[in-house]
Amino acid sequence: MTERVLPGSTIGILGSGQLGRMLAQSARRMGYRVHTLSPGRDTPTGQIADREIVAEYDDLDAIAAFARGVDVVTFEFENVAYSAAESAARHAPVRPRGEVLHVTQNRLREKRALVAAGLPTAPFEAVNDLAELEQALDRVGRPAILKTAGFGYDGKGQARLDYDTVPAEAWAAIGAGPAVLEGFVDFQAEFSVVAARSVHGQMVDYGLIENRHANHILDVSIADMPLEPPQQKRAREIARTVLESLDVVGVLCVEFFLSRDGSLIVNELAPRPHNSGHLTIEGCLSSQFDQQLRAVCGLPLGDTQRLFPVAMANLLGNGWQQHTPDWASALRDPRVNLHLYGKAMPAPGRKMGHLTVRGDSRDDAAQRALSARASLAIK
Ligand code: AMP
Repeated sequence: MTERVLPGSTIGILGSGQLGRMLAQSARRMGYRVHTLSPGRDTPTGQIADREIVAEYDDLDAIAAFARGVDVVTFEFENVAYSAAESAARHAPVRPRGEVLHVTQNRLREKRALVAAGLPTAPFEAVNDLAELEQALDRVGRPAILKTAGFGYDGKGQARLDYDTVPAEAWAAIGAGPAVLEGFVDFQAEFSVVAARSVHGQMVDYGLIENRHANHILDVSIADMPLEPPQQKRAREIARTVLESLDVVGVLCVEFFLSRDGSLIVNELAPRPHNSGHLTIEGCLSSQFDQQLRAVCGLPLGDTQRLFPVAMANLLGNGWQQHTPDWASALRDPRVNLHLYGKAMPAPGRKMGHLTVRGDSRDDAAQRALSARASLAIK
């Protein structure tokens, strides 16, 4: 199998959401063809791709046929089954390799991998039944957060255990399945480091991106979080250690908590471009999607240099059924760039698009992003 996949070749993307769409946009710009596979039709990625293949992720014959028709396979959705990645790998290089999916799609495996690499996590315990939850609570203490071990994102499958929460209720709330109990981190801020690693082990990252959440979903990201240089260095080292220890080829995001005492704690990993990195499209010389493309194609990585203070505000589908967002108002500030993902059905909490905004400073960028979004009059 060739290491290099040159322009003119075909990229296969498993998954068809906005992350695949933005990867496909980078790929198109560099002269690649794009195929996508997912159970959906007229998907955000499919609208940009040359071919949209409709199949379930567990249809291994369809996955094999898909892989035979492309030059490299990557994914934009990490809950693709490991067996699907393995089936694809018989016909085309899969980058990052299926093992990375296998580790990161299960919170317990992920946390154990972090511990094995000597990296800091919140205290945690595996929980498989109510009795184990009660024992885990004694060790981890309260408050704590119970999270399903698999297939969780944006705070889904999570229950907080405060001092007065009845464990059986939290256990029922997450569906009474394999879980992880995590100590609650009293954090002062959340941030992420998006990093890329090439086939040859070259690594780059975008520094610290501050993330503000609303209802457990990312709301606003601001580039260049002003932490002390030793903390910045440490966070970037942690990210690089993760990519190296998992032997990632592609992009991976490490989400961090900055605790009250200033220590850094890894919350979770996403083995792909991340919502917080969308601001790199306009804000950096090479975006996180350009890097994913270059990495999975075996090419040298691009320069991550940030060009100006930049912030991103997510656009969720809340209130879109009632009225169409006032796009023209949001664009009145000429520094606002609008990204919409081509999703036909807005729904509360559904990521429909985002705004990226250039500011004179970080605060100015964040403020402009918030006011542009407010002028859409959808909340
Ligand atoms: P997750 O899906 O694990 O990223 O969780 C979503 C959000 O819930 C995080 O971004 C935090 O804001 C919050 N959260 C998750 N785990 C913890 C924790 N152990 N302590 C405090 N807040 C948490």
